[in-house]
Amino acid sequence: MSPDLDVAVVGGGIAGLTTAYELQRAGLTVRVYEELAHVGGRMHSFRHDGYTVDEGAEQIPEQGYRATWELLRRLGVPMSEVPRIGSSIGMWRDGRAHPGVAETSAVLGGAGLSPRARLDLARFLVSAGCRRHAFDGDHPELTPLGAATLREFAARYHPDLHDYLLQPVAGGFFGWDTARSTAAPMVSLLLAVGHPAGWRTYRDGMDLLARRLAEGLDVVTGSTVHEVTADGEGARVRVDDSVVTARSAVLCVPAPIAARLHPGAPQDVTAYLQACTFTPTLKVSCLLRRPLAPESSRPLYCLLTPEKEESVLAGVIVDHVKHPQRVPAGKGLLTLMAGAATIPELLQAPEQQVIDRLTGAARRYVPGLESADARYFVHRFVHGLPEATPEALRLRARFMAREVGPVEYAGDWVMLRPASEGAVRAGALAASRVLSRLRGHRAPDRPTAWEKAS
Ligand SMILES: Cc1cc2nc3c(=O)[nH]c(=O)nc-3n(C[C@H](O)[C@H](O)[C@H](O)COP(=O)(O)OP(=O)(O)OC[C@H]3O[C@@H](n4cnc5c(N)ncnc54)[C@H](O)[C@@H]3O)c2cc1C
Repeated sequence: MSPDLDVAVVGGGIAGLTTAYELQRAGLTVRVYEELAHVGGRMHSFRHDGYTVDEGAEQIPEQGYRATWELLRRLGVPMSEVPRIGSSIGMWRDGRAHPGVAETSAVLGGAGLSPRARLDLARFLVSAGCRRHAFDGDHPELTPLGAATLREFAARYHPDLHDYLLQPVAGGFFGWDTARSTAAPMVSLLLAVGHPAGWRTYRDGMDLLARRLAEGLDVVTGSTVHEVTADGEGARVRVDDSVVTARSAVLCVPAPIAARLHPGAPQDVTAYLQACTFTPTLKVSCLLRRPLAPESSRPLYCLLTPEKEESVLAGVIVDHVKHPQRVPAGKGLLTLMAGAATIPELLQAPEQQVIDRLTGAARRYVPGLESADARYFVHRFVHGLPEATPEALRLRARFMAREVGPVEYAGDWVMLRPASEGAVRAGALAASRVLSRLRGHRAPDRPTAWEKAS
């Protein structure tokens, strides 16, 4: 009996949609199963009263995101839909914001770093610049940093580099604990994406690419996949209360979910999946009647609050500075990001408790917040970002060298890259692998975004 589909894709995040887009483009019948009512996963945005709120991802840079830009180009999304943010990231130190984080000028201006730390930063940037090719984000396990954690890596330098740069960036953007996560993926990512002046955001919300991809695909939302099994030459997917057969299934969900859905995977796969732990993330969006923001000598779209100075928050994003069209005229939108140490105790807490805790802490940084008239929304991701521990880094090469099978995988964790480009690249790679297995359906004149970007 012929299978129901060529390929069943589990998960309608950016990895699943990229996989499905590439496979459908190559002529296969593909269906995406997504358990939520909408696509986008951790890149979802929602709209409320004229505000556009990013639940997860916040920005994409111009550099270091080749597969993402290739997809946008193919879908005909012009650069004007992804405008530059154009303002600065600030670091809180000694009672004030220091703008210029991750800018070249930080070496001169400081951005919260002491002169000795700036010298160390300059030294590292020069040496990494000379070995730029050694920091390949597609192979984080091969960089000169080995499996050193961020804390071990930072110990070679002035303590400020950890306390006022690496920890706040890792904690604020990835929810990482620097004692657990490795330096290689983050350093490779930061070198690849370059100066924040080149960072952009989708004018109409971070889910734009997901929505555009989904428009041309067969996506079934509100459908939960319970189990995927390899069955002879194909795969059986138990979705809601029925079984779908396919020549291939691609699991485009965070690694811990993939491990649960397909427990019968080969040993190399299972070992890597188990090592691919995730950090949770927790944010509160404040929809304000007026545009409040942290005080700074230059406009900030993000203020990072280091663990050295702040125990509850990891930072504040000023969404109405990120892009003015995200709010109705004259209004404001702030995102309060919880710190890694606070998230575990608040992850299951009632919404009001989370709001009180984060807004209470944010008053120190945002004048006027205590009396603001605001509507609040809480966003929690149990699987926020791949944690990239030393164990995961060590096991990745064997996982990547595995044979192609009827059950394949995609997601940011496959690349161990805590960013959506990792998910897009993993989706395109999974599509290439599926096509190589289902020979005869290959369209040689249409390379996948993975092949174009590699
Ligand atoms: C707070 C936060 C901030 C971030 N900031 C940035 C940023 O600024 N820039 C950037 O590039 N990246 C950022 N990221 C990372 C980026 O969002 C992710 O790398 C990317 O969205 C991951 O996509 P994915 O498809 O791999 O996974 P997901 O987006 O998690 O997609 C998985 C999908 O599978 C679905 N699913 C799960 N289980 C099932 C099931 N059993 N059956 C059916 N469907 C299922 C889920 O509902 C989800 O839609 C951020 C992430 C977070 C959480």
